[in-house]
Amino acid sequence: MNNELISKLCDLHDLSDEELGCLINERTPEDAKRLAAEASELRDRVYGKKVFMRGLIEFTSYCRNDCLYCGLRRSNHNAQRYRLTKEEILSCAENGYMLGFRTFVLQGGEDPYFTDDVLCDIVSSLKEIYPDCAVTLSVGERSLGSYKQLYYAGADRYLLRHETADADHYGILHPKELKLSHRMECLSDLKSIGYQTGCGFMVGSPYQSTESIVKDLRFIKSFSPEMVGIGPFIPHCDTPYRNQKAGTLEFTLFLLSIVRLMLPDVLLPATTALGTIAENGRELGIMAGANVVMPNLSPNDVRKKYSLYDNKLCSGDEAAENVNELRRRIESTGYKLVTDRGDHIRFSK
Ligand code: SAM
Repeated sequence: MNNELISKLCDLHDLSDEELGCLINERTPEDAKRLAAEASELRDRVYGKKVFMRGLIEFTSYCRNDCLYCGLRRSNHNAQRYRLTKEEILSCAENGYMLGFRTFVLQGGEDPYFTDDVLCDIVSSLKEIYPDCAVTLSVGERSLGSYKQLYYAGADRYLLRHETADADHYGILHPKELKLSHRMECLSDLKSIGYQTGCGFMVGSPYQSTESIVKDLRFIKSFSPEMVGIGPFIPHCDTPYRNQKAGTLEFTLFLLSIVRLMLPDVLLPATTALGTIAENGRELGIMAGANVVMPNLSPNDVRKKYSLYDNKLCSGDEAAENVNELRRRIESTGYKLVTDRGDHIRFSK
């Protein structure tokens, strides 16, 4: 058991690259148990027993990109494409507001239809109708000017997973026109503008190594984002990675705990992908240090069409309308699902 390394991580909120590699490669179930307990205790010190909820509106399944792992990739001709109108997005938000959501996450493929003007109009209308709510965008790589316009239109937060901080690995997972350097430039632009910014990566993505994960953790520590999205990679049958193995529950939980211990005040979702690979994945995520859940607020008839990976959850507790069941499940872990905006808190020892 890596007791010494874990104690050091708890004290310093960091380890050397070599130590992180060792913690990962030599991990045991006892390590995972202790890390989860330490991560939970730290999260409770910063945020209390609160789990924040975000209403996810998946507003377009069109994407100009061709990421090899993603079901929305442009060369997937079996994908069902849709885009929501402004009125449909506002109606999702109205429904979400009634259910108690105070953060709306607008996520989609990189769809050229949503120009700055179109997206700014949607963001500013949302903020006008719901001034007490936060708007998070997750619409991929755009220019600095575009990010600024969206920020001035009222967007508060932006999620842009870096996917992998290892340039060679990035080159394997993406077509050659997509570059890690540009993704990183976007992240730094978002942060400099003032967004609460989120990065993140998939656990168990094809060709991922311990070295690449250590690079992810090093990047996350130095970038110090307000949010980190980590979920298992899950293959999609209409992508080149259809036969690759999915990331595991065990490793995702282990990394959630490490990220919590490295960034005590991070907002860390127990993702849909985690809930997809295990029935109680989300609860286990909370118990490993996560403190955010993002149920789906998209209209029922499009949910199945936003197919990033096979068997993606979109009903049951994943559906925003079943928030009471989700609340019951979260409360069974000793936590409380809260309806406030859930902004980032700066941690000081
Ligand atoms: N287009 C935006 C972007 O690039 O950030 C947001 C949408 S993108 C589909 C959201 C996230 O889904 C990606 O950052 C990726 O990590 C995740 N994702 C895509 N395919 C996945 C898969 N097969 N398994 C797990 N997660 C996946």
